[in-house]
Amino acid sequence: MGEMRVARTLAELADARGALTGRGPVGVVMTMGALHEGHATLMHQARREMGAVVATIFVNPLQFAPGEDLDRYPRPVDADLALCEREGVDLVFMPSVEEMYPSYPPVVRVTPGAMGTVLEGAARPTHFEGVLTVVLKLMHLTQPDVAYFGQKDAQQLALVRRMVWELDVPVEVRAVPIVRDEDGMARSSRNAYLSPREREQGLALSRALRAGLGAMAAGRDAVLQAARAVLDDEPALQVDYLALVDPRTLTDVGWEHHGEALLLVAARAGTTRLIDNTPIVLGV
Ligand code: AMP
Repeated sequence: MGEMRVARTLAELADARGALTGRGPVGVVMTMGALHEGHATLMHQARREMGAVVATIFVNPLQFAPGEDLDRYPRPVDADLALCEREGVDLVFMPSVEEMYPSYPPVVRVTPGAMGTVLEGAARPTHFEGVLTVVLKLMHLTQPDVAYFGQKDAQQLALVRRMVWELDVPVEVRAVPIVRDEDGMARSSRNAYLSPREREQGLALSRALRAGLGAMAAGRDAVLQAARAVLDDEPALQVDYLALVDPRTLTDVGWEHHGEALLLVAARAGTTRLIDNTPIVLGV
């Protein structure tokens, strides 16, 4: 497999990416660092399925709004590189903001449209424009055959799939199921912000999703009611949304909906925003 290479500039990336030709299909895992077992699982799957694995670590300022956690977002570089090495990553691209955006903010961006203004987009109106812009740039720069994204960020995954389809990006998008702690909490770099009390509150998200899953056979309204009841039991939690949507369009499912749906929840514990989701099958 050889030494893991770390590229910090576009020139270093072009050189190191060139050295991967002939190794078979190339997979990319895009991250903001503060890596945990969720990220490791994406890398692990890429390692199993691809000839070479590229990881990117970039805290993308374009997807943070003023007042969000851009400045306090954790950046444990040494630990991140050690995790990449452990997972058999061949090349890590870790650019500076100046390297990624020679002119900031960029004039030309990828706009997600209506799919980017619901759910997470309602609370974070410029978020997905920032995400899609950086994902498209990183796809151009790393030239993967396959890009791995976590189901944890379900709306991001749906929008990346949509972008790749509508803009004819020659990359296959593969989804990886949510990695959870033993208590059910979805792994997230932001969990590091939580006090023990807030973590207790945050556990209501995954508990609500499980309650929703348990009511699946009784239909849409029962799913939403069961999940809502669990959230209501944790009044300190500021619930942002609970929604049952079509996984492709992200619009609310009607009572007549059959088949795959996605139950999503977002809430704040203290000042930390948490999201979680689960697939649900309705009416079959
Ligand atoms: P982030 O560093 O938070 O931007 O995440 C980078 C990638 O890892 C995204 O595709 C996420 O969906 C994925 N990811 C983060 N946490 C998890 C998790 N708990 N389970 C699965 N994938 C995850």
